Amino acid sequence: MEKQKYRIAFDIDGVILDPVRALFEKYKISLKYEEISQWDFTPLIGIDMKTVMQYFEDLDPEQVKFEVCCSHIMNLIHDPNFHIFFLTDKTPKMLDWTRKVLARAELDEIPIYASSQKEMYCMWDILVEDKGETWEKCIAQKRRCVLIDKPWNRNVSFQGAERYFSVNSFCDKMIADYGSE
Ligand SMILES: [Mg+2]
Repeated sequence: MEKQKYRIAFDIDGVILDPVRALFEKYKISLKYEEISQWDFTPLIGIDMKTVMQYFEDLDPEQVKFEVCCSHIMNLIHDPNFHIFFLTDKTPKMLDWTRKVLARAELDEIPIYASSQKEMYCMWDILVEDKGETWEKCIAQKRRCVLIDKPWNRNVSFQGAERYFSVNSFCDKMIADYGSE
């Protein structure tokens, strides 16, 4: 019988892509990255979420940087023991934008699925996230979710999380635990 692949879902923004720095740069937002103490940073900059979402839509995909240390995702793609995909709650419009960014690192071949309730999406064994609130929902459903360490998920509520410094360190752990010989 064919061995079951280990299914890894990656969130995109804050995990693979870093649109926040590009946004802050373009709109000259003075809040420092390390000071983003909550995932919804809009109250910290005094701009409403609708405006911020419009800012994101208007960002040139070429200006958006990848998160540092996410290149090892390629090791997972090429390992037959894994099935990897992206899982996002983006709007269709933002998905097109995201695909343009991902294409720059040849990550556009990885399927993207959209779900506004990631914790209920059944197709993954492990979810890699940056949003602490999503981690909480997954844990409540007894599902394995890990956090990539970010200033906005260091809140005391997320202390018990399985946490990785970077996507690369997470990928190395997956290869060590579940990868092919
Ligand atoms: Mg995210």
